[in-house]
Amino acid sequence: MERVLAAVRVGPSETQIRDFPMPEIPADGALLKMEVGGICGTDVKMYATPPSKVPVIMGHENIGYIAKAGREFTRRKGFKEGDLVFVEHYVMCGQCEWCHVGQYRHCENTDWRYNPDAIRYGYTSAEKAPHLWGGFAQYMYLPWNAVVHHVPKGVTPELAGLVTPMANGVEWSLFDGGVGYNSSVLIQGPGQQGLSQTVVCKQAGASLIIVTGTSKDGARLEVAKALGADYVIDVQKEDALARIREITGGNGVDVVLDCSAGAGTMPILLGVDALKRKAGTMVVQGELAEFPNFPLAKLTLKFITIKSARGHSYKACELALQQLASRRFPLEKITTHTFGLKDVDLAIKSVGGHGVPDVIHASLMPWK
Ligand SMILES: [Zn+2]
Ligand SMILES: [Zn+2]
Repeated sequence: MERVLAAVRVGPSETQIRDFPMPEIPADGALLKMEVGGICGTDVKMYATPPSKVPVIMGHENIGYIAKAGREFTRRKGFKEGDLVFVEHYVMCGQCEWCHVGQYRHCENTDWRYNPDAIRYGYTSAEKAPHLWGGFAQYMYLPWNAVVHHVPKGVTPELAGLVTPMANGVEWSLFDGGVGYNSSVLIQGPGQQGLSQTVVCKQAGASLIIVTGTSKDGARLEVAKALGADYVIDVQKEDALARIREITGGNGVDVVLDCSAGAGTMPILLGVDALKRKAGTMVVQGELAEFPNFPLAKLTLKFITIKSARGHSYKACELALQQLASRRFPLEKITTHTFGLKDVDLAIKSVGGHGVPDVIHASLMPWK
């Protein structure tokens, strides 16, 4: 029987290459031949501190070719063998209100935090048949309820590997933050996520984009400028708040997007102070379990709205794919590194800043 190779997370920061049986594809299912699995900050967290002990094929930002498609799969969903596709990591129920509005990320069927039987690529146990529930493998299984997008012509698999941070960029800055024509925006953190937000804000017509980073981010801040940032600030060298006030003539910014990682309470505190006098919006990722002395009074006095960054909707993915196809921005400055299947461990650690230096976005290419 044909076997499929996969990199399996078997414990904290521990990967084993294992093989699984090639799945039987039912009439309403399909098989994806993996081309690129994007690696993001979430992978860094989930790898170092897995949410459970079960073996998991990670990889939730997946691009590949439909290698086999059941007749019903093609009839219902419009995808056929040979199509290059992006597969969202959310696997929907197709029945709830969230699914009907394209907000699959909120569907209970894919919510692993609350539903032990949830299916989500890169999170679901490899013990659950037919096992191939993650992109760090040669093939992935697509049931009828996988959410699939066509990759536009002219977009390579590697470029398409940016679709997830770009879709998050659309969702968080445009849909959640309300960024648009003439907006002023503070983007904290110049990683792949912050840089993608920069592109989306620029495309949407923001008149002022400020990107902050730390002293280790020198090269990334240069990329931010190349992608449309008007100003970059090293928060370790400069008084960021004073600099933002100076740049904005004392007015502050309309929108703050927190794309930092491991920076504690600082980005939120800076964001609250950097927002304009009234009615600014801040989109947060909120990785902190506790926040001592949270400045709630300032928040209410400034009439600030806080929104939660939670992945992307169907619409955001489609817009992100169009953004990639436009070739309007030098996105090759973000797609810095590729790794093979046997190097999953190194690839994730490198994205986290411990391994190969200067990685912005890493593509896992299982056939490399
Ligand atoms: Zn991700
Ligand atoms: Zn649903």
